[in-house]
Amino acid sequence: MNEKEYLFIEATISICEKCLERINAKIILEDGSVFILKNCLKHGIKKELLEKDGQYYLNRKKYDKPGTKCKTQTKIKNGCPFDCGLCPDHEQHTCIGLIEVTNNCDLGCPLCYANSNEGDFLDLKKIEEMMDFYIDSEYGNAEILQISGGEPTTHPQIVEILKLASKKGFKYVMLNTNGIRLAEDIEFVKKISNIFSNGFEIYLQFDSFSAEVLKKIRGRDLLKIKNKAIENLAKYNIPITLVATIENGINDNEVGEIVKFGMNQKMIRGINFQPVAFFGRMPRKNITKRSTLTGILNDIEKQTNKMIKTDNFIPLPCDIDRVAISFFKRIKEGKWKSVMDDIEIETYLPNIKNTLTFTMEDIAKDLIKPIFSCKGSGGCMNSMKKMASIIDPKILLQSKQKRVDYVNDNFFRITVTSFVDVYNFDIKSVKKDCVHIITPDLKKMPFSTYNMFYRDKL
Ligand code: SF4
Ligand code: SF4
Repeated sequence: MNEKEYLFIEATISICEKCLERINAKIILEDGSVFILKNCLKHGIKKELLEKDGQYYLNRKKYDKPGTKCKTQTKIKNGCPFDCGLCPDHEQHTCIGLIEVTNNCDLGCPLCYANSNEGDFLDLKKIEEMMDFYIDSEYGNAEILQISGGEPTTHPQIVEILKLASKKGFKYVMLNTNGIRLAEDIEFVKKISNIFSNGFEIYLQFDSFSAEVLKKIRGRDLLKIKNKAIENLAKYNIPITLVATIENGINDNEVGEIVKFGMNQKMIRGINFQPVAFFGRMPRKNITKRSTLTGILNDIEKQTNKMIKTDNFIPLPCDIDRVAISFFKRIKEGKWKSVMDDIEIETYLPNIKNTLTFTMEDIAKDLIKPIFSCKGSGGCMNSMKKMASIIDPKILLQSKQKRVDYVNDNFFRITVTSFVDVYNFDIKSVKKDCVHIITPDLKKMPFSTYNMFYRDKL
């Protein structure tokens, strides 16, 4: 390759996908996209796509925040990523802790990152121990718990698990599911609707409207099941975030439709898009044409005719490489406006917590706090006016239920979350990974490194 054709961005450490050794790498800009150029002394030079939109990649730095401290469980011995975890070299606390209550699944998707099929169930005592460990590791303040699997609704004690999570006082609990049981067992939906007064949502796998695509990536046509699950959840007022795994050439042409669908459903509060990552059962092909976070943002812009633009998104300050987020406010039925257009979020960075802030109410509180304590300078007044145009400050003084209802009815969240695998591995990025698996032996492993190196061994 002619080295003059690219622009050097920075040096980093990566992993050779063949020998899995740590190797030197460069991050470069070429033809408007960002690549990682990896140099393995045994297996030669490899160039892998990091981000399609180089401009977004270069701009994201201004949102970066130092990580938040948390307790660690291992020592530094073999070097990252072989000391998970967390080891003292990790640079971020846990924004989302996942407990995989089973590796059993009633679906068996061809692209399952967890390789799930028939499997075992963790007992309730162990699950409680894992929840307590997670809370303690965050100095008593673990915010978001995701109950995951396998398919967690196949666990015979899933209702008790959710009750336990509610009792432990997590701020948000998410149930990560393929939706089959929610569609087929209305009594189950009714039961879980009574466990949480708020701070609970279903994280519902929803990748496509096409029978052909669903058969390819999930093994069967699930559209009727997904629609029935959404209908049942709406009946019992349970909030939903749709989770769409996106693969280029398979369902990347559907992101706009998924956004429009989600924004028009009563109980759907947000969508999380995830570019496919190459671990688990995902076949190792088309890696050079992989879907990326910024590729999905660009596709959303194109496929919604600029109703939603790439510029509406910001990198999540706790993990600028892996998460982009935006909120939209309902102007009238079927019409939405980006909240990010009205606030220069980077000016508020010191007040924003290192976490995946889930609702506009939380964001508003973080932003409004310093305004309330201000002594009346012009800057504060301007900020106050801007915030008031988005969310009426009086709402924040109302009862919790009224606040929740207001936010639920008026705001919509879109996130894109990408993961690191052995192909796009950048050490800086994994050290900032804030989505952590809580393991039964009471460790916390970054989601990406766990799936790359540890899941099969454990
Ligand atoms: S990913 Fe984090 S926890 Fe794992 S070895 Fe690297 S720094 Fe340590
Ligand atoms: S991706 Fe989810 S639904 Fe599909 S097999 Fe894996 S655990 Fe089951």
